[in-house]
Parts: sequence; structure tokens; C-alpha cells
Amino acid sequence: MPKNGVFLGEFCPDDIKWLADNGFDFLIGSSNDRFIALCRKYKIEPWTCLGTFNPPTKSPEYLCVSINGERKEWFSSGCPNNPDVINFSLEKFEKAAEKDVSGIFCDGVRFASPASGLEAFFTCFCKHCEKKAQEYNVDFERMKKDISTLYKRCKEGIPLIESSVSLTPSVVLSYFVSMPGVCDWLFFKKKVIADFVEKLSKIVRPKDKRLGGYFFSPCLSVFVGQDYSILSRYIDICSPMLYRNTREKGSIAPINTELQAISEWAENEKNPQWILDFTGLSSKIITKSDFLRKGISIEDTVRETLIAKHLIGKKSRLIPILWWKDTKIRKTIREVIKAGASGIQIFWYTKETRRFIKSKLKRCL
Ligand SMILES: [Zn+2]
Repeated sequence: MPKNGVFLGEFCPDDIKWLADNGFDFLIGSSNDRFIALCRKYKIEPWTCLGTFNPPTKSPEYLCVSINGERKEWFSSGCPNNPDVINFSLEKFEKAAEKDVSGIFCDGVRFASPASGLEAFFTCFCKHCEKKAQEYNVDFERMKKDISTLYKRCKEGIPLIESSVSLTPSVVLSYFVSMPGVCDWLFFKKKVIADFVEKLSKIVRPKDKRLGGYFFSPCLSVFVGQDYSILSRYIDICSPMLYRNTREKGSIAPINTELQAISEWAENEKNPQWILDFTGLSSKIITKSDFLRKGISIEDTVRETLIAKHLIGKKSRLIPILWWKDTKIRKTIREVIKAGASGIQIFWYTKETRRFIKSKLKRCL
């Protein structure tokens, strides 16, 4: 089983040789034959990464429906319950699994995240999701009613979880139980995603290929329907995106930008401490702009690694992915490995990042 990988954008043959010679044992790229042949030549495992819920066409009928009844696109994805979206995805994985790759990573295997916007986040209420909810014995009307209440609160500038609630886990539990439709929604999303990943696993693994997954960090995973303890049954490599200090506002997946988006919904609350309390983070974030300016601490990244490790147990390998722009990348790698990760991946290798990666990571792994 590989340990250290790089998510590859642009490359030339020398890059692949350099990465193979410098402690990396797998590369994540496209499924094109040139990439695969070069990896095989330099004895480094080729993996391919596929978006999961990209619809077959741009037609709005594939998109998720918000609590307001509007079609919403997020991360170029359609509804995870739309049969055409599902079939398109399964065929894509089937085709990629025929290639000479070592495995396939699924990306975007989830529902919309906060950084995609409040309306995209409060999805999906389309007819396909309604049908699926019936199949799961989930009360769709109750789900709509309570999500609508929660959405309206956010729209009025009230925090998703008020500061007096977020301090104590038992009070948070009581708050959500008072809105059972919100619990239904969270359960529904994670069940949909788990069932879909099981399907992917049944396509990929019998072809003697492994399945990997890019997941939101544990503190955010509940929002997008990713349950580590269930998903790890179907996944060989579990890769939390532990991007901790991405500067681009609205960037999808980094812990700091996603939390910043949630904190900004709460216009009436200047202090973002409530979202740190809710997610259990101890980073020194005093103002909302600190999420972008300072980012999340290495200590919190370590904590997220420990939680992920605990949740997946021995069922799958934990190989977090880290953003190359982390200014303390060597220390982050060291600490994440110390916390129990089997290896790391770097996002991502391009003409622009090549010099940084080569200077910072040479002989680091
Ligand atoms: Zn839907």
C-alpha cells in the first residue's frame, strides 16, 4: 500500500521521475495513457481522481433544489440522488477502473458545503430526494419544515448554533433534537453518500483496483454527509482535506475558508467563537477575518488527524491531503504523521508550485 502522494496538475516526464526519486510512491492524475505509462516507467503508482456527481450535461434539471425551491449548482455537481447523475458517474468509474491504474480517488462525494453558499448548503429537496427519503423511511415534510426554520434563522443573521448552545455538547444535542427534521437531514445525507460509495466500491474493487476518497475534515464532515466510520468500510485510502490556511475566500473544502463562510452567515454575531466551540477547535481566531489571515493551527490539524484515525479504525489507511501553500508544510507533515497518519498527499503539483514543492519537500518524506 502506498504512503506518500502528490496530486498532479501539469507535469513533464522529469517531474514524475523526480517525485519517484524523492520519497513519493503514488501520483493522482487523470486516467490518460501517457500519465499512466510514465508512472509505470518510473515505478510510482498511478491513481486517477474523478469528480463524483458531475451531471452528464449543463441542464438545470440535474441540479440540487434548495429549501426555497431554486436549482443550485455546487462544485460543478448535480443532485446525488438524480438517477442520470448516478448512472453517469458509475459509468465513468467503471471505465477508469478498466485502465492500468492502481486505484481511483473520488472527489466531491458529498452534498454541498457551506462555502458553496447558504442556499446551496440547504439542499436537496428535489423529487428524487423526496423519493429516496421515502425509501429510507425519513419524514421528508418534517425535514423540510425544520431545515426551513434553520435557514430562516441563518438568513436573519443568527448563528447556525448560538453561542450559548455551542459551548456544551449535551446542549448542542438537545438543540438538534428539538428540530428532528434537521437530524433527519443530516442522517439522510450521510446514508445517501454511504450507499453510493458502497456502489463505487463494488465497481472498483473487483477489478483489483483500490478506492480512495477525499473527505472534508472530521469537524466539517457532518455538514456534507460524510461519515468516516461508515465510509471507511468501502474505502482503501481515506484522505481528509486538512487544508488549514488557504487564503482564497470562499475556497471549497479548506477548514478555515469553510468555517469563515459559516461565521459570515451570522451577521448579528461579530465573535466567531461559537463555530470554533461547535467544531472543537482551539485555534486563536478572534475575528472572522482571522480565518483567512491566520488559518487553523497545526495543533487543530493534529486533532483532526487523531479524530479521523479513531473514526476509521483499522478499516482503511489514513493519508491526509495537505495544501502546498501551508507555510509550515514540513512541520505540518511531521505532526500529522506523528498523530497516526500512514502518509500524506500534497495538493497540488503544477508549473507554478513545482519549485516550492521541490525545495520544501526534498528528502522530507
Ligand atoms: Zn435531490
